[in-house]
Amino acid sequence: MMELSRPSTAAGEKRKRIGVMTSGGDAPGMNAAVRAVVRMSIAKGCEPYAIFEGYEGLVKGGDLIKKMNWEDVRGWQSEGGTLIGTARCKEFRERPGRLAAAKNLILSGIDALIICGGDGSLTGADIFRSEWKGLLDELVQNKELTQAQTDQFQHLNIVGLVGSIDNDMSSTDATIGAYSSLTRICQSVDFIDATAYSHSRAFVVEVMGRHCGWLALMAGVSTGADFVFLPEKPPANGWEDEMCDIIRKHRALGKRKTIVIVAEGAIDRELNPISASYVKDILVSKLRLDTRITTLGHVQRGGTACAYDRMLATLQGVEAVEAVLESTPDTPSPMIAINENKITRKPLMDAVKLTQAVAACIQNKDFDGAMSLRDAEFEEYHRVYVATTKPDDPLVKVAEDKRMKIAIIHVGAPAGGMNAATRAAALYCLSRGHRPFAVHNGFPGLVRHNSVRELTWLMVESWAIRGGSEIGTNRSLPSEDMGMVAWYFQKYNFDGLLLIGGFEAYHALTELSEAKTSYPAFRIPMTCLPATISNNVPGTEFSIGSDTCLNALVDYCDAIKQSASASRRRVFVVECQGGRSGYVATMAGLSVGALAVYTPEEGININMLQSDIEHLRESFGNDRGMNRAGKLILRNEKASKTYTTEIIGDMIREEANGRFESRTAIPGHVQQGGTPSPMDRVRAVRLAVRCIQFMEEHNERSQQDILDDPGTAAVIGIRGASIVFTGVKELKDSETDWACRRPRQAFWLDLRSIVDTLSGRHGTPPFS
Ligand code: ATP
Repeated sequence: MMELSRPSTAAGEKRKRIGVMTSGGDAPGMNAAVRAVVRMSIAKGCEPYAIFEGYEGLVKGGDLIKKMNWEDVRGWQSEGGTLIGTARCKEFRERPGRLAAAKNLILSGIDALIICGGDGSLTGADIFRSEWKGLLDELVQNKELTQAQTDQFQHLNIVGLVGSIDNDMSSTDATIGAYSSLTRICQSVDFIDATAYSHSRAFVVEVMGRHCGWLALMAGVSTGADFVFLPEKPPANGWEDEMCDIIRKHRALGKRKTIVIVAEGAIDRELNPISASYVKDILVSKLRLDTRITTLGHVQRGGTACAYDRMLATLQGVEAVEAVLESTPDTPSPMIAINENKITRKPLMDAVKLTQAVAACIQNKDFDGAMSLRDAEFEEYHRVYVATTKPDDPLVKVAEDKRMKIAIIHVGAPAGGMNAATRAAALYCLSRGHRPFAVHNGFPGLVRHNSVRELTWLMVESWAIRGGSEIGTNRSLPSEDMGMVAWYFQKYNFDGLLLIGGFEAYHALTELSEAKTSYPAFRIPMTCLPATISNNVPGTEFSIGSDTCLNALVDYCDAIKQSASASRRRVFVVECQGGRSGYVATMAGLSVGALAVYTPEEGININMLQSDIEHLRESFGNDRGMNRAGKLILRNEKASKTYTTEIIGDMIREEANGRFESRTAIPGHVQQGGTPSPMDRVRAVRLAVRCIQFMEEHNERSQQDILDDPGTAAVIGIRGASIVFTGVKELKDSETDWACRRPRQAFWLDLRSIVDTLSGRHGTPPFS
């Protein structure tokens, strides 16, 4: 291969050449990562190269290492698998293979490598980096390269992105592809659920995960499965009886269907595999259940990435390029991670070592060790799953005098996950011996119709997967008739209140909290679990329902973008919901690669429109007729009173002078989504259980104590890397923009600039 000469920047420095590759098993979202790396590299003045077919491309070189241009990755977020290919490469495991790889990298002028793959791929990358100097010396000694050729490549910069559907990497909460895979699994289990119910059958569903039970556990949590088998938490000896006992109880309570989820690497405490067929035999022989096995197999890898994976991959791709540019020869190779809601950098080899330690712990039968090495979140989900699945376990019940009557109410518009939260709260209450009550149809349901019903296990059991609000919701605030609300609270003698909903639910909680001084009935612990597609509740960076909404919007945008492929040169102005919060528009913009996002926070002005129309002219002008996909502008419904969706569409049409077309699209209530996304469901379960635990913690405090402590009326939220309760008084006084019904500060505001950078909005990218 000829050595490629590296062009210089205006400042006379050599442009950095960044190689990007995907390796190991393919995972949805890998394409979004490659797109982000390619475009961010160009935006930062570097030259991106794709290495095709994983390490195979590095070892073979030649045409498998190709320079990438801005347009090469257009629309890649909407494609499943990996478009630059992946492979399992034996040669790279041996030094001669890595020697060839080093030579190819130098001949291509690449001095930084971003690898998206699983722990194997990242281990290989780190070995490569640690051997780098030795490899260069050997290449010079063998006269394959000259000293001069290797001189400027003394340091190889490596950054890892974790692309793997198993979510098996330690130090990060999510790997690229895991939530898409979970989505496929949950869709399948939801379908199976219907047939299982119809025939009153049992299904044993086998899901992927050789050393990691994340997919199995999360599928169990989000579908309300009866039992799960995980490699890192083998069941106790005699588990057959325990499983049958739980299922027998569920059946006795009236459940017509049984779902058991088995990770492919499930084992017992003696490391014997637990196979789906063995589980089936037990269900047939001991419980006489008509039982079927479904092995989901490669379906779990398939399809396009869900909204979360597209965002995760995009943000991590951007961060990887930043990490490359900031790295020095002394910086350890970073792995880009996410913890709760925060993109972070972790030392790559520490993360790989921790991951490998889990497998070693399992091999040594140190299962507590294996669980402790998983993230804290995993263990919590397991506890929550068990707590909401085992009915009537005397060991987890609280003492009689500590049992509470807890009211659950939905306030505001429906959002995906509200039912999952209500179900989890109710099941957790029942397992602890508390009594959960549903207040139907919000506060008007209470004060006008006394619509209060005690929830039973069977009533809520099937709600995990349902969209909308099973107990009914209403926007009205308690202040419409505070006296009556208090009267009913007194009548039912509630000891705790869980409000589930959006900004109205938060507002309702501030009112109830303030009314504590006048009405003793409100001197009880009260929490608000944010559930709204708009994600505009102060005190949290994430509301349940917003992920379901993003998925609905992303599917919608993919469909309309594709509809433009025949006609070409079409711009869609899509109107997104979100009230006065641009969260949904911005995150959807990141996920679909919108050309521009218009938010209420920024507003719309004539200069902005003019410059965006100019950008459209340039990019359609530069595409040489090859641009077959439509372009998207996402406009939040309240971004401007003047520049409505229709007006923007008309302006674009007028200014395009026939060179391109515009259309408007308003998905409206489609954005509430049908079936809630697994992410909303699992977060709903975790947050709901935490809310009931919050009430348990404050249960023994006196009324005066509760009155004096404003923190006893709180919003539960995900903030940065933790779950926190913030008192509504604090939120009201210092964090709420009441006029715009949103938090004063939002973590995602900075992300708008990433949408712009990756669409080339402020500065035309260099086209091929
Ligand atoms: P998945 O999680 O999907 O299995 P992975 O990245 O762990 O992904 P592997 O098959 O373990 O998948 O690794 C992918 C490739 O990475 C291997 O084919 C090999 O080329 C390289 N690789 C893995 N481990 C090593 C190692 N110890 N040394 C060098 N290269 C390695």
